[in-house]
Amino acid sequence: MEPLDRATVWPYNADGTLGDFYYQRYAHPTGAAAEAALGTLEGGDALLFGSGTSAVTACAFALAKPGTKLALARDAYFGTGVAFAELERWGLEVTEFDQTGPPPADADVVWLESPSNPFLTTPDWPSVREHPGLVVCDATASTPVYLRALDEGADIVLHSATKYLTGHHDALLGAIATRNEALLARLREVRVHVGLSASPDASLSLLKGLATLEVRMHRHTETARELATRLEAHPAVERVRYPGFGGLVSFDVAGDPRPVETATKLIANQTSLGGVTSSIESRHRWEGDRVPVGLLRLAVGLEDADVLWADLEQALARA
Ligand code: PLP
Repeated sequence: MEPLDRATVWPYNADGTLGDFYYQRYAHPTGAAAEAALGTLEGGDALLFGSGTSAVTACAFALAKPGTKLALARDAYFGTGVAFAELERWGLEVTEFDQTGPPPADADVVWLESPSNPFLTTPDWPSVREHPGLVVCDATASTPVYLRALDEGADIVLHSATKYLTGHHDALLGAIATRNEALLARLREVRVHVGLSASPDASLSLLKGLATLEVRMHRHTETARELATRLEAHPAVERVRYPGFGGLVSFDVAGDPRPVETATKLIANQTSLGGVTSSIESRHRWEGDRVPVGLLRLAVGLEDADVLWADLEQALARA
């Protein structure tokens, strides 16, 4: 494992020229090692950012100018739309579209999320490949284990590495990967200019997380599949959304979901996803009428499926 180097400065070369590392905001050894590991998994070159949202912001700075038309998948993570709304004052034109069909023909940038959080839809890749615009895909919930978005036709793949990639709810981190050298150079420049860099500590969490990513993702999937099947058959559950892979399951109960989310004991009632321990929450709390009142997002961890089901069953008795 790469040693953790928290230095913010490194001396110049003996002749006064710049070495690989000189000031942490530009690059640091722990981050460079983690970027190399993630780049290998994605089949491109990776860059780390201070959070998933920093990576979104960097893409907006790198790809857009006043008048740029950005088509955002309607059910993408709500915070992505919130970040873009900040840039509408600066002339970014955002429209939303249903990513299960073709993107709007006039979009300069197409923003996908696969699967979307919390609705768990996936993009219409054949239509995306025919689109002339630049394509960004947030693959946070797939990870490269289930989706190599650059192979599917994305120009940039993006992650909130806070989730599955680090995997232990102990690091805030974002990442992108691309095969386009000009885009890579521009994103690297934006990272430094706007100050969106990742910390060495979070980068080390990524290195550790990547070492177990495949095993964790397969286990998340196995358990989530089983729980989705059992939820489908439960009388208190009105609808289950599960894409067939990964650890996220969204399900709807009738009416107020608070009695259910607050009744789980092993499954934590908290936000976020991608950790080794399970969590559940009502998304209405954050997203308002964008999501059904009764929708609960379950982020399945690595615990035993029967133990998780017992916890869910006793909580669903309150529905
Ligand atoms: N993208 C997706 C799909 C997310 O779920 C999140 C956070 O929940 C983000 C981006 C933002 O990431 P971060 O919280 O690391 O800024």
